[in-house]
Amino acid sequence: MKKKYRYLFGPVPSRRFGRSLGVDLTPFKTCTLDCVFCQLGRTLKKTITRKEYVPTEAVLAELEDWMKTDGEADFITLSGSGEPTLHSRFGEVLEFIRANTTIPAVLLTNGTLLHLPEVRDAAAHAQVVKVSLSAWNQISYGWVNRPHPQLQFDQLVEGQKAFRAQFKGKLWMEVFLIGGMNSMPADVQKIAAGAKQINPDRIQLNTSVRPPAEEFATALSKERMTALTHLFDPEAEIIAEFSSKHIKEVQANEETIFSMLKRRPCTSEQISEVFGMHLNEVSKYLGKLMRNGQIHVERENSSVFYAAAGNNK
Ligand code: SF4
Repeated sequence: MKKKYRYLFGPVPSRRFGRSLGVDLTPFKTCTLDCVFCQLGRTLKKTITRKEYVPTEAVLAELEDWMKTDGEADFITLSGSGEPTLHSRFGEVLEFIRANTTIPAVLLTNGTLLHLPEVRDAAAHAQVVKVSLSAWNQISYGWVNRPHPQLQFDQLVEGQKAFRAQFKGKLWMEVFLIGGMNSMPADVQKIAAGAKQINPDRIQLNTSVRPPAEEFATALSKERMTALTHLFDPEAEIIAEFSSKHIKEVQANEETIFSMLKRRPCTSEQISEVFGMHLNEVSKYLGKLMRNGQIHVERENSSVFYAAAGNNK
């Protein structure tokens, strides 16, 4: 990204979506859940109140400017610092993207508000919607996702089923598996039964490859994940590590790298891929940001992630 925006970030490396321009519609870590595996850390504001958290007109103006002056990404994704469906006008942002560019609009949602007809109608403007299901009943929902007290597990499943019935685009589902919490085959089988009722087009298994909110949210090995894929129908995929073969030249400098690391920790390889920069060049920027005390290192499963200082997990 050549310019600095307030509500747009990236394009960031996404394990699902290649080079994805992010649109952030909530203040940092405003969410209906407080998942133990959240890569953004603990939820600061747990709420189910829908409102215009950030001014829609300002978001649309930034998108319009980005489309005119840059406009290079594989997807435009409503994601970022929290749950995008909490924003009362997120559907208008999706409509704007669809009306003004051919880049597909993606909504990354935890699906907790899809029991509301107005949220389903708004979400249906996306071309791809990714929902989440990592529990099988109210108790496991409580351990893994730590929902707002007014959210019920049955409502989560019913909301996603109702959305599936009306949505004509691609519905993907993420199942996040954590060692010792929701990864015993008998429990995964129950999650799979819930997923089957919702009937997504794709099911993707994920685990804590980036530093999670809670240290106890340990990652599963690839072998254990692979052994669980066949429990799902359609059979689940394991989300591969980010790779994008069609990176175009993207202008990058310390500021844009720093702004990306403020949103999510990344490895130097990911930064290198998304900005089309040589690793040596990336190391120079990271070295300078570390010397300035702007970023720090976090280690997870023998990978080294860089995160903005103050954005501790
Ligand atoms: S993982 Fe997503 S749904 Fe869970 S707390 Fe983080 S932002 Fe919210």
